[in-house]
Amino acid sequence: MTKVQPTEYATRLTCEEARNTLLKKSKEITSFESVPIRSSLNRILHEDLLCPVNVPNHTNSAMDGYAIQFSNMANTENTPYELKGSAFAGRPFSDSVAGNVTIKIMTGAAMPDGADTVIILEDAEEKNNQVTFKGIAKRGQNVRLAGEDLKAGQVFLKSGRRLTASDIGLIASVGISKVKVRRKIKVAFFSTGDELKSLGQSLNVGEIYDSNRYTLYGLLKDFGAEIQDLGVVKDNPAELEKTLLSASKNNDAVITSGGVSVGEADHIKSVLTSVGEINFWKILMKPGRPLAFGKIGDSSFFGLPGNPVSVMITFMQFVQPALSKISGETRRSPIEITARSSNKIKKIPGRTEFQRGILSFDKNGDAIVSPLNAQGSGILSSMTEANALIHLPAECGTIEVGAIVRVQPFSLQI
Ligand code: AMP
Ligand code: MG
Repeated sequence: MTKVQPTEYATRLTCEEARNTLLKKSKEITSFESVPIRSSLNRILHEDLLCPVNVPNHTNSAMDGYAIQFSNMANTENTPYELKGSAFAGRPFSDSVAGNVTIKIMTGAAMPDGADTVIILEDAEEKNNQVTFKGIAKRGQNVRLAGEDLKAGQVFLKSGRRLTASDIGLIASVGISKVKVRRKIKVAFFSTGDELKSLGQSLNVGEIYDSNRYTLYGLLKDFGAEIQDLGVVKDNPAELEKTLLSASKNNDAVITSGGVSVGEADHIKSVLTSVGEINFWKILMKPGRPLAFGKIGDSSFFGLPGNPVSVMITFMQFVQPALSKISGETRRSPIEITARSSNKIKKIPGRTEFQRGILSFDKNGDAIVSPLNAQGSGILSSMTEANALIHLPAECGTIEVGAIVRVQPFSLQI
């Protein structure tokens, strides 16, 4: 087989063009299942959820105190109130409250008819069934109104949302026990390269341990995919073809790492042109330039570069948005904030750069980002040391100290 240099057939694309093309070509999963809400955590909601009730259901007290009917005429400070009873959460007071009558009320207890205001225990003195209050009350203070959290009939969660801990709590708060979620995306992945050894094997000269399969495992697990790890495949067309074909049969997406750079791409190209559709892209970005994208039947194929940092960055920038679309998720782009650069960052306009950086906050709470010294695409420890990517768009040149840059935090906990 003659080796084809990728430059002969690779299309040059900007990051935005690459992401848009991937998104356009990725088809959504339409099937869904109904699951108990605990199992819906981190799944993609497949329906708009309508609120069947008001939350809270009844107007209730936000504090432990005394419930009164507010009157502009009465000066609560000098008026003794007659204590008529009490109300607890789940045990309401059955009578009404008006004039100079009050009841003791606990947090969460339904407000009795007539009462609209709560004076906290600390501002009250109770003696012989008489209560006197300190300070001036405001109408409606310390009261939670029925429906102030959610109103009956409103859509409170939209289809396409990735469900969080607060979401499943919120769903429980309206009394719903099951929801429809999309089927989980199924993703197969494998590493390619004759130099790769699996854990437990010893290394000969020139050999390395296969780490990409572990980072991909982590990225895909975090994403919530159902995964199939197909191990290491040698740089051998017949073996590649067999693995790609079988992987595509049962999966929505197949991800490989390695074998798409100069001198190797022809393997995947020759295999995929015989069984599917393939595009080789030279993306105007650093790191992670070569990327292959194609279709094998209904399955999407992502051929990532082999360098460990490039794998992670191309996954975050391109594969994850595409997997989100396939999964039916509405939010698709990495979260981006701005921060001041603590250092000068040398750059020539022309391609997008993603540098590893450490995001922190100064004493005023302003975001500062410091690029790491080691920015090589093979230095995986830089991804562990960093907590964010500094996104330098193609058109930007050298960044001066203190200039504002775009930053993609790895997590929202810094
Ligand atoms: P390639 O894209 O196949 O030319 O690989 C680029 C670089 O990444 C080479 O130095 C490979 O040895 C390295 N590499 C490829 N696959 C892996 C892997 N699974 N784990 C760690 N390094 C890899
Ligand atoms: Mg290789």
